[in-house]
This record gives sequence, structure tokens and C-alpha cells, in this order.
Amino acid sequence: MDLLDTLTAKGLRGETPTREEALAVLATTDDELLDVVAAAGRVRRRWFGRRVKLNYLVNLKSGLCPEDCSYCSQRLGSKAEILKYTWLKPDQAADAARAGVSGGAKRVCLVASGRGPTDRDIDRVTDTIAAIKGADPAVEICACLGLLSDNQAERLKAAGADAYNHNLNTSEGTYGDIATTHTYADRVDTVRKAHGAGLSACSGLIAGMGETDADLVDVVFALRELGSDSVPVNFLIPFEGTPLAKEWNLTPQRCLRILAMVRFVCPDVEVRIAGGREVHLRSMQPLGLHIANSIFLGDYLTSEGQAGQADLDMIKDAGFEVEGAGEATLPRHRADVTAQAGSCGAAPGAAVSPCGTGGGCGPCGGHGDEPAAEEDQNDEPRNGLVRVRRRGAGTELAPNA
Ligand code: SF4
Repeated sequence: MDLLDTLTAKGLRGETPTREEALAVLATTDDELLDVVAAAGRVRRRWFGRRVKLNYLVNLKSGLCPEDCSYCSQRLGSKAEILKYTWLKPDQAADAARAGVSGGAKRVCLVASGRGPTDRDIDRVTDTIAAIKGADPAVEICACLGLLSDNQAERLKAAGADAYNHNLNTSEGTYGDIATTHTYADRVDTVRKAHGAGLSACSGLIAGMGETDADLVDVVFALRELGSDSVPVNFLIPFEGTPLAKEWNLTPQRCLRILAMVRFVCPDVEVRIAGGREVHLRSMQPLGLHIANSIFLGDYLTSEGQAGQADLDMIKDAGFEVEGAGEATLPRHRADVTAQAGSCGAAPGAAVSPCGTGGGCGPCGGHGDEPAAEEDQNDEPRNGLVRVRRRGAGTELAPNA
């Protein structure tokens, strides 16, 4: 297939495909699916070998958010029966983090609901980072606290944060359809603030919200332009009690095509299968590992994932290995770009850096109207697979890790 040969060759060189080529990946048929996975897998192995990076979510503050992101169970007016609690104390967060690190995670993602942190919130997170790194300095910390004000990124960097997550989620053209209390531009601004402060930018998307193929391609190209070092690909978890509860638009095949498109557009960037992995990829999760080089271990912010041990078993059974604390995630040229970003403020984008330049709440393009491929549409609702998190942070029960 000429398309896949072209995409593989470009990906192995670290080059970005054209927009048309990215759209063509999303339009491939189920008969072509294994060829698509194999091609994306070659690119994945070129830059990341057979390593899988494990990330662990600690929800520092859950629910009660004043923002109206329609996909989110923590949103204003959400009727989802999620855990609701205010800030965990540093030692409570460190206990949860320790469980994830013991399970094999090298990055801990500290997430708080809300529009953005106050300076007092930055103090709290600073204390939490100290508690986690005091016990294990090798743990990578990614903060995800919403929209940042001036100097907050610098304060997080000084506190020892390694990365900041703020997802673009969808294309600029459709952003107003999923949230009205902040803008796409607000999100871009926060990613730039984080990157400018020398934090590794983690910024991704949510698929399955009713977007077009063109929207997906637009947001992935925007992430490439922003220079996200890691791209979490969330698959919408249609929580009962949220406006998108009926949006069951994804099939496992569709999810794999989306992951492959992201891999081809961002060949040397950490591509993470984020929220919705179990709900939408289901028994096809191991194929996703051939494309993505990163997943979350255990549970998500407000929903439960499969058992942490099942994640580890899946990685081993599929012939992959958990990335160790001493191993670099990114290829050397990208790690250099990350290191330089804070010191010179320049937008990274070296010749071999197709995801170019610089990272809202965690797991939670064009503006054409072409529908998704017919066979991808209308997966049956799998409400039974959406399990509200009832263990770990904010509860008396042990975390899943
Ligand atoms: S995604 Fe973040 S900002 Fe939006 S409603 Fe959820 S917690 Fe609030």
C-alpha cells in the first residue's frame, strides 16, 4: 500500500506526513487495519523500541469544578456519581503515588479539578512534589492543574515538576462546542507558558466526542506545532450524568486508526493511550501497544481501569517491557529540545523534530464535515464498562496499581 510505505518512510526519518496522508489513515478499512498497525509499529520501534512507559494518576482534588467541559464527569452541573473531595494532603498524595511507582510507574501525574490553580494551590502542589521526590527523587512529576497564570509554571519548575499537562482536546474550530467557560486559545496559552518555563509539555486530545476526521487531524497537527513531548490520546468515556453520555462513537478499530494517525504525525513523541483504553479498545488493547509507547497504570481520575497487574501482564504477553526509571523516554534529539526550551525560550523544532515546538485536565482539525468511515460509527453503548472510581485517592481503600 503506497500510503503506508510513504508514512513508514517518513516516520522512520522523523518527518511529518501531509494532512491528506493523515486523513487517509483514518479512512482506511478494517481489511487494512493490521497493515496500518504494522506500519505504525515500525515507526514506534524506531524511536521507542519495545518500551512501554507507565504513568500513574493521582487525583488531588476531585469534582466540584466551575468549568463546563461537556466530556468531563467533574464539570459544573455533572450528575455523575463520582468521588468528590478537596485537596489531598501531601502525605496522602505521596502514599498514592508510592503505590503507582511500586507498580512500575516512572511518572506520577498530579491532577486537580478546577479552572486553574491559585498561588496557594501552587504551594500545596509544591509540598506534594517535595513529599514524593523526598521519598524517590527519580520519580517524574507531571502537574495538571488547569489554566496557568503568570509565573506559576516557573514556580512548579522550581518545585521540581518535570512536566505540565494541559490537553487541547479537540480542534480550534469545534472547541466552542465542548466548553464555553474557557477557550482553545486559553489552553494554547497554558501549554506555551509551561513549555516556556522549561517544563516538558504534555498535551493531547479526546476522540469520540462527535468530531470529524478533519477535527482529529487538526488537533494533532496543532499539538505537533506546539511541541508537545507527550500526547495522551483519550477515548471519550461517556459518563452517565454528563452531556456526552450518549456519544458511543468509537470502535476498537477506529481507536487503532486514530492512534496510528497520531503516531505518524508525531513519530518521535511519546504517544500515550489514556482514558477510555479499556472501554473502547477492550480486547484489542495489546495491538495499541504496537503503536503507542505509553499508558496509564491502573485507575483514571474518576473511573476505574483494569487491575494494575492486568496492565503489566498485557505488556509482557504482548512482548513489550516496562520502561525503567533510568531509561530516557524520548529520543536524544527530543530530550535536548525539551532541555533547551526553558533556557532560551525558543520554540524547539529541529530538523528531526516533527512534533516541533512546546502541554488542562488529564485523562480524563479543518473543519470539514466528512463523516467517520461507516464501519466505525455507532458502536453499541458499553455502559457496564464505565466504572466510577471507588478506591485509591480520596477513599479508605488501597489504590489500584
Ligand atoms: S476538564 Fe478540568 S476544567 Fe474541564 S470540567 Fe473537567 S476538571 Fe473542570
